[in-house]
Amino acid sequence: MDTTFNKKTVDDISLKGKKVLVRVDFNVPLDENKNITDDNRIVESLPTIKKILADGGTPILMSHLGRPKGKPKPEFSLSPVAKRLGEFLSAKVVMTPDCIGAETGKLAGAAKPGDVVLLENLRFHAEEEANDTNFAKELASLGDVYVNDAFGSAHRAHASTEGVAHFLKPAVAGYLMKKELKYLSQAVGNPNRPYVAIIGGAKISGKIDVINNLLGKVDVLIIGGGMMFTFLKAIGKEIGNSILEADKVALAKELLDKTNSGKAKLLLPVDCVVAEKFENSAPKKTVSVDGIPQNWVGMDIGPKSVELFRNEIVKAKTVVWNGPMGVFEMENFQAGTRAVAEALVEATKQGASTIVGGGDSAAAIAKFGLEDGVSHVSTGGGASLEFLEGKILPGVAALDNK
Ligand code: AMP
Repeated sequence: MDTTFNKKTVDDISLKGKKVLVRVDFNVPLDENKNITDDNRIVESLPTIKKILADGGTPILMSHLGRPKGKPKPEFSLSPVAKRLGEFLSAKVVMTPDCIGAETGKLAGAAKPGDVVLLENLRFHAEEEANDTNFAKELASLGDVYVNDAFGSAHRAHASTEGVAHFLKPAVAGYLMKKELKYLSQAVGNPNRPYVAIIGGAKISGKIDVINNLLGKVDVLIIGGGMMFTFLKAIGKEIGNSILEADKVALAKELLDKTNSGKAKLLLPVDCVVAEKFENSAPKKTVSVDGIPQNWVGMDIGPKSVELFRNEIVKAKTVVWNGPMGVFEMENFQAGTRAVAEALVEATKQGASTIVGGGDSAAAIAKFGLEDGVSHVSTGGGASLEFLEGKILPGVAALDNK
């Protein structure tokens, strides 16, 4: 696959006087009173919106929020986002009652340069996820040019991420999309070496393709988190009551065999922190992976594993990390994940390019307040994983080439 970033961006086209239809990712978490609990996704979209405004264009923003399942549901309205966005931009954000239809067309059409329009939740229509042609054409009719800045949704071929790009040209990337692809493309296509990948999280399922693909590319692949126990089982260890995917043991064995014959080194933890129960306050102890007691549960990697992993991470010139090393949500079992995050920060200081995949590892590094210490924290868990698997993201493929 072509891994260099060769798509046109907002810097390559004229925006002056144009209605700029922008797919953003405003899928923010809301509490029960519809307060936004984390506005990072809005913040990340600001550079592109400000660029359009500065160039004299009118941003017509569109996004999904939650899973309204193809029906208008007030609890999934983007109106809290319109309010927060207006505060960030010190501008009035015109919210349309729907994302298509006559009233939406009228409001978008009347908007002047300097105005900001936000369309109501795209997923109030089932046609969005179905990538319906007519729906995509209706969206396209609202703008003069199309910008995709929603990296987190780029692995889905939906009407607003893929279909619309066929009907509205030019179709280019926004700054967030560009930033994400710049870091990820380099890791996939042209990594500085040594290249170390760290994969963790609860299960192997969902990460098999990424492990397989990375094994052919990296110098060292580190495995931690709940999935380590399926690997340990595959090499004949007793794992007590630790999380196990019994149907994936054979596959774990296959992956280990593949490494033995390949050039990548695969590192498994040598010790772990076990608890009597899957609870933060449960009695715990550190044991060798050769001595996991019956009935105890593996919750985190141990200090010897941390040392082993750290040694590889700080020597690396490219590091990709996806998935926590343990149950980091529990205070008593976060040390391994924190240590890996700190090792990434150290590697970054020594000039490595360090990338944290979205989802739980992004949540973990934010929890430790270390996100500014790494090169890039991806805003898209699923999208970054698919990119690292070597897949082409449909939302990226549909954009104009340079
Ligand atoms: P994933 O969504 O697959 O990246 O998994 C993330 C989840 O894995 C987090 O919620 C962690 O609490 C969980 N996790 C990490 N280590 C373990 C473990 N040893 N046992 C059970 N769950 C774990």
